[in-house]
Amino acid sequence: MCQSCSMPLKKDPGAGGTEKNGSKSELYCSFCYSDGTFSHPEVDTAKKMQAMVKKVMKGKGVPGFLAGIMTWGIPKLSRWKK
Ligand SMILES: [Zn+2]
Repeated sequence: MCQSCSMPLKKDPGAGGTEKNGSKSELYCSFCYSDGTFSHPEVDTAKKMQAMVKKVMKGKGVPGFLAGIMTWGIPKLSRWKK
């Protein structure tokens, strides 16, 4: 799964983020990461990422409690671990 937003990389429509040299990232999805940089520079904490992912899920009709469960593990991902 993506080490930034916890989306399963297999479900990523872009099939993974891209590095500067055009190769695929094995850590991040296309939503979070492209051309070797994170796509949402304002989202710089796990809390902000959780809020953003919940918003995206809500937009897709995912119930709030389910979005909460699915974003629960975000602070444990390697991008946010300190
Ligand atoms: Zn991601």
